[in-house]
Amino acid sequence: MKTKVIFNDIIPFRGFLAMCLWPFIFVRNSAASHYNTVANNHEQIHARQQKEMLILPFLIWYGFEWLCRFVQYRNSNKAYHNISFEREAYANEKDLAYLGSRKPYAWTKYLRIK
Ligand SMILES: [Zn+2]
Repeated sequence: MKTKVIFNDIIPFRGFLAMCLWPFIFVRNSAASHYNTVANNHEQIHARQQKEMLILPFLIWYGFEWLCRFVQYRNSNKAYHNISFEREAYANEKDLAYLGSRKPYAWTKYLRIK
């Protein structure tokens, strides 16, 4: 199933550009002009992560890892950027061919504590 990008005024929260909830990618209308191919690739990486983890376990893990990273860094923004799903997405978002060669569960390589 292909993902569908939905432009709207509600999801995600103000201050965020886009959010993937497979099979949908929500983009705020106010940020639509910033939703470029790199941003889309970032969200498509999350779509792949969610699909392989059957969505709900992804969301639980995402929240749990954010909490762990928040304890680790004591900074919500730093915690967010260091969630392994985000590390994988940010590290590879500019490589538009990444998803073509990505191995399943590649995000686990980004779990390391640094
Ligand atoms: Zn992300």
